[in-house]
Amino acid sequence: MTTQPHSKYPHLFTPLDLGFTQLKNRALMGSMHTGLEEVEGGFERLAAYFSERAQGGVGMMITGGISPNEEGGMGSEMSTPEHAADHRQITEAVHGVDPDIKICMQILHAGPLAETPKLVGPSAVRSRLSPLVPNELDEAGVQKQINDHVQCAKMAKLAGYDGVEIIGSAGYLLSTFLVEKTNQREDQWGGSFENRMRFPLEIMRRCRAEVGENFILIFRIAAMDMLQGGMAWDEVVLLAKEMEKAGATIISTHFTWHESAVPTIATMVPRAAFSGVTGRLRKELSIPCITSNRINMPDVAETVLADGEADIVSMARPMLADAELVKKAFEGREDEINTCIGCNQACLDHGFEGKEISCLVNPRACHETMLNYEPSQEPKKIAVVGAGPAGLAYATVAAERGHSVTLYDSASEIGGQFNLAKQVPGKEEFYETLRYYRRMLDVHHVDLRLNTRINAEDLVSAGYEHVVVATGITPRVPELEGIDHPKAVSYVDVIRGNVEVGKRVAVMGAGGIGFDVSELIMHKGVSAATDKQVFAREWGVDFVNHPRGGVTGVVPQVEAADRQVFLLQRKSTPVGRGLGKTTGWTHRMSLAKRGVQMMNGIEYRKIDDKGLHISIEGQPQVLEVDTVIICAGQTPARGLYDELANTGIAISLVGGAYKAAELDAKAAINQASYLAAAV
Ligand code: NAP
Ligand code: SF4
Repeated sequence: MTTQPHSKYPHLFTPLDLGFTQLKNRALMGSMHTGLEEVEGGFERLAAYFSERAQGGVGMMITGGISPNEEGGMGSEMSTPEHAADHRQITEAVHGVDPDIKICMQILHAGPLAETPKLVGPSAVRSRLSPLVPNELDEAGVQKQINDHVQCAKMAKLAGYDGVEIIGSAGYLLSTFLVEKTNQREDQWGGSFENRMRFPLEIMRRCRAEVGENFILIFRIAAMDMLQGGMAWDEVVLLAKEMEKAGATIISTHFTWHESAVPTIATMVPRAAFSGVTGRLRKELSIPCITSNRINMPDVAETVLADGEADIVSMARPMLADAELVKKAFEGREDEINTCIGCNQACLDHGFEGKEISCLVNPRACHETMLNYEPSQEPKKIAVVGAGPAGLAYATVAAERGHSVTLYDSASEIGGQFNLAKQVPGKEEFYETLRYYRRMLDVHHVDLRLNTRINAEDLVSAGYEHVVVATGITPRVPELEGIDHPKAVSYVDVIRGNVEVGKRVAVMGAGGIGFDVSELIMHKGVSAATDKQVFAREWGVDFVNHPRGGVTGVVPQVEAADRQVFLLQRKSTPVGRGLGKTTGWTHRMSLAKRGVQMMNGIEYRKIDDKGLHISIEGQPQVLEVDTVIICAGQTPARGLYDELANTGIAISLVGGAYKAAELDAKAAINQASYLAAAV
């Protein structure tokens, strides 16, 4: 972009010389599985998705994982010229934006995590995440897997990619050769570490020989695999050094296996928590290193680079959330960045559920050909009532399209339910979403009226052509004897700090909010999400001594508030089952470590001076608690909608006011954005 150092982000915007080519800056969009390769018209959608990120100024991008063969089990394969022809749509779109932007394809062989009966592994050791036992590779099988990786790299080059990233982490095939737990072979591919690393090294060496010198080869290494008995630090270093000798252009550091019990990308992980590990590895190598994980804003990326912890910073989800992240940083418009909040709700959760991925804060992600905010041909005068996530999304999208939008809220600040969420330890990133929306209201000239409770009559007389009712929800008050007892309080009052919470507490309802409230009241001290040392202590990671996997023998230590908490639900399913697929376990573990007792199959009977009376399997008992926090879901707040119903004004109902049950910010923002794109 410039030859002068950037005034604010000099490291981020310094090109990187790879010898045979250059990266224009240090910002990488790392690999994210989109699932689009497998849908009709998917390559066209991928071309649009990547070219928007290219226009957004990124230096290099890596595609989602593509399998080298059927055994790799990713659904999408690259092994023939026909496959390469499909991918040309992507590479041509990106290079059409700017030939200097690099796009590499990730080769991902899932190994024991492949969802096919043909799955393979070094040994017949099942992953705890899979029902399938891998077929143990014989010598011919090992050679076939190597050959298929080489053919895959060759076809990626034919497709016009600038390079490939070979994933050697996460519990996928290459990484299972590296650790004793999954590699129990006694031939040249198992036993000593020299033997165990032979397979990934052979793949790198043979790929380099096939593709020649002028092609980027990235090896993704589990620099800290978070496995008990995982890779030792000297093994990580040795592998990286040998990869360098075998022809790798770049080492990309990764910090997990999917089965490990440490959260590494969720919002409760501090920003750039693992970059220090990359920094240590970088000192051992002469080729560039990529760092990643929870680096979601340009200042974090700049600090990591300035501190010498990496040469390149990967921001995958952050560029899903905002395709223009790099450009906005370059132009000094950081306050306009739609920040990834690390929720995983629309990206990884969807990926693991086999749904198309998108982004909670940016529903256009992966839907660039379907959801566009084109200028309106008929600008209207629109009132949006309610400045929660749905109202904010609607107001900003409609205003961006040229409508005249007034946004009303009776509160003194925007955000609705987000203002509650942001106060929960581990959910600090929600502040960023509110900052983004606050800025967007100004950028798109939305007339914001806070502290204003508007009624139907006023809306009619003000001459609005369209009213958007985004009035949110009302917390549900269960019908229960004693529900008006002083012990019974609403989660809203607890989060806002309006009520005293006693030492013994029952939380009625174990949805997302029951979990959040339990986390809040059991919390003590600094939030782990904002302090790497606290995070390391709570999750049992030793960044200093780096025992095997970073975790072997380290006992997690959690400080908890002096309380006893019962988290209750009526359903007989395990408590917390409805939480996000990739993050639910972190919330369950966090509460379990703090001693919260989770109970299911509860029948509520009454609340009185003694506490909460319940029955389990017909057996009555009393939880002698001081406080009962009601987290029993919500009902739509539709008073205004009903008032407007007969006025003749066009009305849209969005967010919680439309559907409160199981509603979350993802659904609210998505629905509001689509409606505002069409008004
Ligand atoms: P929710 O997820 O619908 O959970 C409500 C809970 O209340 C359920 O556990 C339900 O379980 C119980 N319940 C329902 N009716 C009841 C009644 N009449 N009496 C007693 N208990 C009753 O609602 P929420 O927890 O308020 O969350 C609202 C939305 O925000 C959800 O979509 C949630 O996913 C989202 N959210 C997500 C997160 C996250 O971490 N991803 C965090 C916060 C909120 P039983 O019927 O089995 O008792
Ligand atoms: Fe980030 Fe959540 Fe969007 Fe995923 S869905 S990219 S974690 S904000």
